[in-house]
Formats: sequence, C-alpha cells, structure tokens
Amino acid sequence: MLKDMFAKDSSLSFEVFPPKKDDEFENCYKVLDSLATLNPDFISVTYGAGGSRSKKTVDITSYIQNTLKLDAMAHMTCVGSSEEDILAVTKDLEAAGVSHVLALRGDKPRDMSDEQFEKRIFPHATDLIQFLNKNTNLNISASCYPEKHPEAISMDSDIAFMKMKQDMGAKMFISQLFFDNADFYRFVERASQAGITVPIVAGIMPITSAKQIGSTVTLAGSSVPKKLADICARYGEDAEAMRAAGIEYAINQIQDLKRCGMGHIHIYCMNKAKMTAEICNAL
Ligand code: FAD
Repeated sequence: MLKDMFAKDSSLSFEVFPPKKDDEFENCYKVLDSLATLNPDFISVTYGAGGSRSKKTVDITSYIQNTLKLDAMAHMTCVGSSEEDILAVTKDLEAAGVSHVLALRGDKPRDMSDEQFEKRIFPHATDLIQFLNKNTNLNISASCYPEKHPEAISMDSDIAFMKMKQDMGAKMFISQLFFDNADFYRFVERASQAGITVPIVAGIMPITSAKQIGSTVTLAGSSVPKKLADICARYGEDAEAMRAAGIEYAINQIQDLKRCGMGHIHIYCMNKAKMTAEICNAL
C-alpha cells in the first residue's frame, strides 16, 4: 500500500474510531461495510491515548484487513506505554495481518499525573518510530501539523521533528485537520524545503455540526477561517442546513487540493458512512 502511495499522485483514505461501548461494534462494522464500497486506498483506526483500548483498534483493523480485504492502518500512541506494551500490540497486529501503523505520541491521558507524563518511556513519536523500525517489520507513517503542533515552539522546530520522523523511518505523513488550504500549501512548501520527500496526506474533517468547532477542532488547535465561522453562525441552529453546508465546504476544500496537485486525501469521517459517501460521490 505504501509503495502505491509513492507511485500514485492521488489517494483516498478514511479514518474511523472504535466505539466506546461493546454493543456498538455491530454498527461500526456496518459503517465499515459501507465505507468499503467507496473503494478507499486504506482505512485507519484510531487508538486511545493511554493504550488501554488497543484491543479494539486491533479488532477493527483486523476486520478491515481480513473481512473487507482492504488495507488497514492502526494508529498507535506511546504516551502511556512500556516497550513490552508496544511489542504486545505489534504482535497482535502482525498476527492479524495488519502491517501499517500510524506512530504517535498521543496526548496526556486524563488519569496520568504530570509526573508520570514527564517520566514517560517514549518521550515522542520519534522514539516510537525508531523502536518500531528496529523491532518490527511494520510500515510506519506519522502525523504532521499544517498549523504546527500546539506544543511546538515554532513551525521550523515542528518541521525539523517531522524530518526526524522521516529519518527514523516514517514513510508517509497524515496531516492534522485544517480548514484553510493556504495553510496546507505553505506547510507542504516548507516541509519540502526541509527535506521531506515522502507523501503528505491532507487530513479533511467535514464540519456537519457547529458543536464540532467547540470540541474536536479546538482540541486539535486548528484555526477556523471566517468563511467557516460564518457558516456555523448562519446554520448552527438548523441541523440539516448545517450538515449540507459543512459537507459542501469539505468538498470544495478537497476539489481545491486536487486542483493544486495535492491529491492524497484522508477524510476524518467520524464513523459517518452516509456523509462520507456524499462527499466521495460529489468528487
Ligand atoms: P510528537 O511528534 O511527539 O510531537 C509532539 C510535540 O513534540 C510537538 O510539538 C513536536 O514539535 C515535539 N516533538 C516531536 N518530536 C520531538 C523530539 N524528538 N524531541 C522534542 N520534541 C519533539 N491521538 C490519539 O490519542 N489517538 C489517535 O488515534 C490519534 N490519531 C491521530 C491522527 C493524526 C493524523 C493526527 C495528526 C493526530 C492524531 N492524534 C491521535 C493526536 C496526537 O496524539 C496529538 O496531536 C499529540 O499531542 C501529538 O502526537 P504526535 O505523534 O504528533 O507527537
């Protein structure tokens, strides 16, 4: 799959999350069945920051890989993990035939003290990437941040660490969500000048409810351009109109990216199959 990403100048991938409750898994698998009909290049599955729910990620990636026969990518965070924890998960992934991980540090889990966070075994994604590269045969991708990571002291330092991820073995980057393509174009240019040569996939999150701006988007540290803020102000109280306007915004973003030669698109589809299908059909 990674080989294909280099060979092609465009790709389409989706991101799903494991449901919180066990009885929601059936529905999650139905969502995946629908997403599979859209022929994505791969589907990625998120991972709890502390790693406590890693089995759910393994189960879902296994379903994608073995039942749907699509390429699956497992996200993996290291903030709360020991080397043994990481090896146990990679063993499960390899046993399930899942060969691609998105190696992340993760955010400090709520139940982790500041002291534990300071003393974490893997300080950064770079350490996890190096460890995975040395101890497993997994294909490794990593995250990147078009508006810089909120903790980064500068864009230059964030991109320098991105380069370190590539040097340690990351073969592809998936970007944090962004709403202003100009930010992404500037970022790709700077990353290229810093020596990033592997594909950078654009992360697109459709905003179908104004509430998302207050929750997910704030957490991600992404800025909200006036045009999107105006849409939320105008349609925020009208669920259907907001949904339609948010989907249209995402479609316009993707079309503009493709026109500008940035054809690798990752949709944060939030387990919404119908919304994802509407976007893909419009493209
Ligand atoms: P890092 O790359 O370690 O970066 C964190 C900060 O440290 C940055 O400021 C960076 O500049 C700096 N830094 C990086 N390397 C070094 C170094 N070697 N030395 C010093 N400083 C360094 N979270 C989840 O919990 N589960 C998920 O499934 C998940 N999926 C994600 C998918 C994508 C595409 C993205 C973009 C994010 C995802 N996240 C997920 C969120 C992510 O865990 C957070 O953004 C987290 O705060 C940083 O993780 P990272 O791997 O980017 O960290």
